Amino acid sequence: MLKACLQTEMASKTKIINLARMSRIFQGTSGSFDSIEKTDIISKSHKLMINCGIIKSLSIGMYALLPLGMRILNKLIDIVDKEMMNIGAQKILLPALTPAALWKKTDRYDSNKTELFTVIDRHKKEYILSPTHEEAICNLISSAGQTVQISTKLLPLKLYQISSKWRDEMKPRLGFLRSREFIMKDLYTFDSSLDNARHTYDLVCESYNNIFRQIGIKYTKSIGDVGTIGGLMSHEYHYMSDIGEDTILQCPSCHFSINQSISKTTSCPECKNELHSYTAAEVGHTFLLDTKYSRPLEAMFMEQNKPTPMVMGCFGLGLSRIITLVVEILSINDEMRWPVKLAPYTVCIISPKAGSKEESTSAYIEQLFEIFYKRNIDTILDDRTHYTIGKRLVFARRLGYPYVIIIGKAATQSIPLFEIHDVNNSTYHELSLEQMNDYFDNISVKD
Ligand SMILES: [Zn+2]
Repeated sequence: MLKACLQTEMASKTKIINLARMSRIFQGTSGSFDSIEKTDIISKSHKLMINCGIIKSLSIGMYALLPLGMRILNKLIDIVDKEMMNIGAQKILLPALTPAALWKKTDRYDSNKTELFTVIDRHKKEYILSPTHEEAICNLISSAGQTVQISTKLLPLKLYQISSKWRDEMKPRLGFLRSREFIMKDLYTFDSSLDNARHTYDLVCESYNNIFRQIGIKYTKSIGDVGTIGGLMSHEYHYMSDIGEDTILQCPSCHFSINQSISKTTSCPECKNELHSYTAAEVGHTFLLDTKYSRPLEAMFMEQNKPTPMVMGCFGLGLSRIITLVVEILSINDEMRWPVKLAPYTVCIISPKAGSKEESTSAYIEQLFEIFYKRNIDTILDDRTHYTIGKRLVFARRLGYPYVIIIGKAATQSIPLFEIHDVNNSTYHELSLEQMNDYFDNISVKD
């Protein structure tokens, strides 16, 4: 009996050690909002992400993602990885540097030169800090094909990575929206025929719809500009936002939507209605490339014993842009807001102020934490007890934790009550521990 009790106590202690604490989070700021506000920060998201310690500017157009920012990115990556797995895509990681010679083979080196970061090694060989990896992936496939002939059995082949990409922007601005280093998911698909590639293209677009539906912000899919990547067809995914660089023309009646840069019309080709225009920011771009890269770089498969270039698709998703736009679109009054699935922590517990009458109620931290621990809900304790509860509530709302729980005056009652703030829905309740359990049984924070 005693042994069992000790084990339970030890298990509980182990759990509480796992509880993240605000006092130990590296935010890279003093927490004081106005002192670090810079005049060159012009968007709401850029200002909030720096002031709340999500990102930190290190040089022009280059940002460090801080611990809270990494949690948001990792949650977004989880959503993306699951959807990629559902369509049978396999995750890889390509080198950041691509030999410039490969870009010369596809005629992309000269046309993109002004925006490419390049480096030269000790043997005077030139490399590109890759903004995209069509050349590199074809090189991978072609060198694999020299040892293992790629048969139709392996197709469609879908390979993706999540990594930093680089573009030497003329005018880096708006934080991660127009940065020189950014984080992208890029998927490359290889098929045996154009028909099959079109089928794969539709399948990936559907998985993109699933990703955007889970993030939960209204998005649009428009006919896109193939630009310097090229190919037969492309679609762009956008969030409507005034800080975007694109103009999207949309039909108010049907689903027709097109980037203005390629539209020669002001009326809908499907139903003749006048198109409405919106400012929007691109967050995803898909291309049906055909054999534009696979042919010159010899990404071949064996068809009737004859090497044949594979039909490619490429599919980008701007992860650091998505995070920036989520902040831009959802945040209100200097407070960030997150879809529950992306919040840096789902729950923030605020403990009593040091030296206050309620200080003894700190003992409830463990029992409250237990409610979230057993449901696998990620939780942080704001243990900076030199601040008042009110001040820490302001901090928690600013960071946009979806649920804030306060151990305050009501916790000293014979049946202790705890405040719970549902920040996204602006509701507030006082609940006992038992009611808190029921509350989290009845809401879905995971799906
Ligand atoms: Zn229409």
